Amino acid sequence: MSYSGTTIPGSGESVPFYDLSAMTDQVHDEVMLEWGNLLKSGQFVGGSAVTTFEEQWAEYCGSRFAVGVANGTDALHLVLRARGIGRGHEVIVPANTFVATVEAVVLAGATPRFADVDPDTLLMTPETMAEAATKKTRAVIVVHLYGQMPDMDAMCAAASQLGIELVEDAAQAQGAERGTARAGSFGVAGCFSFYPGKNLGAFGDAGAIVTSDETLNGQLLSLRDHGRGRGGHYDHEMVGTNSRLDAVQAVVLGAKLRRLDGWNTSRRELMSVYRQLLDDGPAELVGQVPGGVSAHHLAVVRVRERADVRAALAAARIGSGIHYPTPCHLMPPYAEFATGRLPVAEAQAAQILSLPLYPHMRPEDVERVCAVVNASAPPDPS
Ligand SMILES: *Cc1c(COP(=O)(O)O)cnc(C)c1O
Repeated sequence: MSYSGTTIPGSGESVPFYDLSAMTDQVHDEVMLEWGNLLKSGQFVGGSAVTTFEEQWAEYCGSRFAVGVANGTDALHLVLRARGIGRGHEVIVPANTFVATVEAVVLAGATPRFADVDPDTLLMTPETMAEAATKKTRAVIVVHLYGQMPDMDAMCAAASQLGIELVEDAAQAQGAERGTARAGSFGVAGCFSFYPGKNLGAFGDAGAIVTSDETLNGQLLSLRDHGRGRGGHYDHEMVGTNSRLDAVQAVVLGAKLRRLDGWNTSRRELMSVYRQLLDDGPAELVGQVPGGVSAHHLAVVRVRERADVRAALAAARIGSGIHYPTPCHLMPPYAEFATGRLPVAEAQAAQILSLPLYPHMRPEDVERVCAVVNASAPPDPS
């Protein structure tokens, strides 16, 4: 069953904002079988299920190594720690991201510097990166918001010109491509979350880091596992933490990885239906960066009369969301790091609206969503 809710004659089926159930059904038998083997093996922490997934994920992303961790926040935080970025250092982050990007910087002991974004794509640009940089800046975290990467050649060139490291927050971009390269493989490290709602999601929390830097890989393996060295179980070389990927989740991720490209293709096809049907209406889809293939994690539009549109969607029993309602520099715990207004990030927060999108959504569901959106407000004059 891919649809929750019951049919009320005349009103049409409800369209949930997101529905995992069909993806879960597709991997159910395979996961149960592999979990059976795992229970017999007793290898619950580490072991072949974890290393097998790590190898597959590194290969998929086009990186030499992948390190499984407990979640995406730890992925970001541990990369910063491994690179020696902490107290007295600044890390540039876009203001309009999920809070975890900024949280990871503060957890590492460093200071976030908020960058504004492009008004069309809502992504950081080489210019907004440079504007946020100071002498204390050591790194930038580029966020592939809603599933798409900015022009990464330009971003990498800008970071190297500033003499700072580029880390990718690819939590929303599993499988996104530019040229022949995938998200995560451009920066010194690519950080992924496998939270259940991401394009590749576990049955609980999980995450990973990809890198082609052998030293960094070694440091991350140690950091995620209590700072263990190669000398044995009680050989601790550094202050680490416990942030390991569970074997039960690695099995789920391996099974879902085999379907990820198909699911991303389905998202892309649904997005082209959205693009056709929303044209001329009051809602404008977030712009796409030329030369890339987005993972289409979310279908986000800008709309002036957002409250009216949301009310119309709710009345038609169609789910929607806002990602994210408050830019991070305006959130109470992070306001102390704000250095001024960020006009684009602040303006877009009042207009963005996320429409339903998941691989097993039907084109006719997209048609229903668009019909409600287009009828709910006058077309945008611009
Ligand atoms: C989900 C997400 C994270 C954090 O991942 P968790 O696994 O929930 O810790 C970080 N950054 C972005 C952009 C995300 O969407």
